[in-house]
Amino acid sequence: MTIQHHPADEVLLAQAAGHLSAAASLLVRTHVDMCAHCRERLCTLDMVGGVLLEGMAPAMLQPDALARTLAVLDGPDRHARPRPGPVRGGSSRPAGWPEGAFWPGALDACKVSPWHWLGPGVRWSRVTVPGDADANVLLLRIGAGKRLPQHTHSDVEWTQVLHGAFHDGRALFGPGDFDGADTQVHHQPVVEAGGECICLAGIEGRVLFDGAMARWVGALVGM
Ligand SMILES: [Zn+2]
Repeated sequence: MTIQHHPADEVLLAQAAGHLSAAASLLVRTHVDMCAHCRERLCTLDMVGGVLLEGMAPAMLQPDALARTLAVLDGPDRHARPRPGPVRGGSSRPAGWPEGAFWPGALDACKVSPWHWLGPGVRWSRVTVPGDADANVLLLRIGAGKRLPQHTHSDVEWTQVLHGAFHDGRALFGPGDFDGADTQVHHQPVVEAGGECICLAGIEGRVLFDGAMARWVGALVGM
């Protein structure tokens, strides 16, 4: 299945400039792990950013800007795509991770909790991002044919599909697809009948569920 949904250019640009929140950045890095198209685009934006940086007046730069830029250029290729495969040492993937499902290398640096029950056919796992304890990131694992309650968002919900697929009334999202759903999106993700779906979700603000029960359950996990 080809990746259909990519981060918008302004999101990639914000990532290149280091302006994204820790949650959004983790989601974008995970997408870039899975998507050669965006990996290339982000490399280009990084280069453009470097050129722009060179053209700026020295007074506008942070004192360590040059050192940081050089460190990035000298460092390992941070857009190299890690392949899903055997569990690496130190991998923090929760027990029961399905065979063959993509595991983002970026999550190895995070603390990932075991799966918790959230509702019939729905489990979740808390992802603690190093350096930003307040970043609201979780893994959602939803069974075949199951759905999340209808909701909208007070700010943005970033979603990266790692395994399986769901349709939310707007489009079908499969492995590798990325979505940023904001206050304009009122949707209900329904997992395809063929198998379960695992997504990495980064929530800025709150998820605003329509139903009182869903709101109560969502609040328990910080959605
Ligand atoms: Zn992409």
